[in-house]
Amino acid sequence: MKYVSTRGKTEQATEYSSAEVIKRGLAPDGGLFVPTSIPQITPEQLEQLADMTYPERAAAILGMYLTDYTSGELLHAAEEAYGKERFSSVETAGTPAPVRAVGQTEVLELWHGPTSAFKDMALQIMPRLLSLALEKTGETRDALILVATSGDTGKAALEGYADVPRVRIQVFYPVDGVSRIQKKQMATQSGQNVNVTAIRGNFDDAQNGVKQIFSDPEVAKTLDERGIFLSSANSINWGRLVPQIVYYVSAYCDLLRAGRIKQGELLDVTVPTGNFGNIFACCLAKRMGLPIGRMICASNQNNVLTDFINTGVYDRRRTFYQTVSPSMDILISSNLERLLWLIAGPERCAAYMEQLKEKGWYSVEPEVLAAIQQEFSAHFCDEGLTCSTVRTYYETYHYLCDTHTAVALSAAEQYHAKAEFTNRMLVASTASPYKFSPAVLEAIGEEVPTDGFEALRRLQKRTGVAAPERLQALEQEEDRFTEVVSPSEMQQAVLAFGK
Ligand SMILES: *Cc1c(COP(=O)(O)O)cnc(C)c1O
Repeated sequence: MKYVSTRGKTEQATEYSSAEVIKRGLAPDGGLFVPTSIPQITPEQLEQLADMTYPERAAAILGMYLTDYTSGELLHAAEEAYGKERFSSVETAGTPAPVRAVGQTEVLELWHGPTSAFKDMALQIMPRLLSLALEKTGETRDALILVATSGDTGKAALEGYADVPRVRIQVFYPVDGVSRIQKKQMATQSGQNVNVTAIRGNFDDAQNGVKQIFSDPEVAKTLDERGIFLSSANSINWGRLVPQIVYYVSAYCDLLRAGRIKQGELLDVTVPTGNFGNIFACCLAKRMGLPIGRMICASNQNNVLTDFINTGVYDRRRTFYQTVSPSMDILISSNLERLLWLIAGPERCAAYMEQLKEKGWYSVEPEVLAAIQQEFSAHFCDEGLTCSTVRTYYETYHYLCDTHTAVALSAAEQYHAKAEFTNRMLVASTASPYKFSPAVLEAIGEEVPTDGFEALRRLQKRTGVAAPERLQALEQEEDRFTEVVSPSEMQQAVLAFGK
């Protein structure tokens, strides 16, 4: 399997191997890497997959795309990444990604991993794929991953990269810009190859600092002499996307085995969407032949994707809202570029992206919009509706969901209210309610204490739903990283760590 850039001209597009693509992250022309063809899963293969464990399913699906990895390497990586030491649901439900029936809806829980959010599904395995990619591409240097985080991604990346050979990771976060639990999660991180530094400033200062370090040739040269190159853990890396296809296939298999769907029966899927990575993985699963009907793109108040899918106009020139579902607070949805490439081709895709950069908006041709609407619907949810959905599911089904999942549950309901005919609905649940305890407490009508750990305890006491052990244990753990620097000292911190 070869890969090209979403912006490369069809005729003379350079092709890359999967290991090269994982090492590079972004294509040299600024586009995203996409496979030149989409492998197919036959109904017979789907039946075989249904008899496999999650790591075996993962190795089989990854093997269709990552053809320069051996099946042994992929199985080993998947067994390590998705074992019971890392995903609590493996012990209780036999899989890192269990499907729970909630009323008429099937909820795919993607948050049983070490940081209690769905990014673990990709970030637990991707670092192992990167480490192997260094060998396969003959890279002699080690990778140093730089991350600026507003909270969630930093911790998920730290957990994924900790103690992975030939890779180290440096995370920067704004000292007053993350919650107490998030800060504690990062400050206590284990691993010989990790470093965490707080900066005096906000998230933009951290982000800009990282961008400057990336573009400074002196830094690159100094690190190169020490046998190190800089890399990122960004969600547009193909190595983060392909593991996300696996859980859609796996969910279908589990529903088949449980007799909740019949072989070949179509499943609709609703995904709470920010950067369009998760829902695009679902789209790929569908194109591979998995029986998926419609995909419903769920957004919060930052509803740029709802407007785009309904009108064909993508316009980022709008108010940015900070919501109770912060991981979806995004105005530029990077992975949408991969869908545009798939539907409109590289020339038009490159033109849309150019116009987005220059003018802040673009519109697609009527036939492109029609093709998108053939597969996708879109709905959004404001703050009030998000909170009332948390409450309704709790009161009606005793199902406690987080705010991001609530956005998706509401979008699925909105879709059903309009649709003439519907299939069984699978809703992707992307975070543990305890990751967002204060917002969830408030939604179910409780008073919210100022301390995050106190909020967690109160939510557990009030609902009787068990909180993830790792989040609870955190309060007692010793901080390893306490350094706070100013943004101008970030470069120095990177050079001191990259020795
Ligand atoms: C990252 C994230 C999302 C958005 O996923 P995308 O792949 O960026 O669309 C949704 N919910 C949670 C909890 C997340 O962490």
